Amino acid sequence: MSIKENLEQVNQNIADAAIKAGKRPEDITLIMATKTVDPDRIREAIKAGGRIIAENKVQEALKKYDALKNDGAEWHFIGHLQTNKVKDVLKFANMIHSVDRLQLAEKLDQRLQQEGRAMDILIQVNTSQEDSKYGAAPEEAIPLIRQVAKYDTLHIRGLMTIGLFTKDEVKIRKCFKVLKEIYDNSVKAGIDKVVMQYLSMGMSGDYPIAIEEGANMVRIGTAIFGARNTPDAYYWPSEKTDSDRG
Ligand SMILES: *Cc1c(COP(=O)(O)O)cnc(C)c1O
Repeated sequence: MSIKENLEQVNQNIADAAIKAGKRPEDITLIMATKTVDPDRIREAIKAGGRIIAENKVQEALKKYDALKNDGAEWHFIGHLQTNKVKDVLKFANMIHSVDRLQLAEKLDQRLQQEGRAMDILIQVNTSQEDSKYGAAPEEAIPLIRQVAKYDTLHIRGLMTIGLFTKDEVKIRKCFKVLKEIYDNSVKAGIDKVVMQYLSMGMSGDYPIAIEEGANMVRIGTAIFGARNTPDAYYWPSEKTDSDRG
């Protein structure tokens, strides 16, 4: 199957899941997770209608951005962000999905102030409680949102999570329900300046479930570009080091 055909299939599945969830297909935003995919193949996906590119590693993203910056796509960052990469991520990102700690927010704010601009962000929550995934613990999410919201340069637009990797649909669904609950609670909390708009959850293996549970932003790689050779462990390091905490 070509990238174009894969994209059509994914869009069809998104539309079906949206309708099943009582939503309009156009309410769901598809993000193409492009880690390991080279610029030529990403361009093929953009030509086939993909609008948003999402990368996990800042250096990899910068290289591709250089090749693709005139192709009209929007760029999101969805990987674990080290504080020493803040300056570089701001060179390409239109949105950062993975703000998961106060110190990172502080560094982003400092740099954005210097540049005299603001950034749309999502707060990443670790709904699977696995040590290997980053994100604020569910009970820390709303306190973190309150603190991050104080930075004028950071516009909180929603939440992001990576669901548990398992074939057990009940467990996957539970992760998404946890994120939706935090989302609803933060809407209710009415935190100043926070505009809860996006629920970024769902990947190739679980996006129909995520949409049923309220996702309106899905991040899809394999189902569009095929299987990756590089193990995901490279992109989701299992050890949290001090430097990661900045
Ligand atoms: C790679 C990745 C995805 C997409 O994963 P697929 O299973 O290939 O669809 C989504 N979100 C994040 C954070 C990723 O790193």
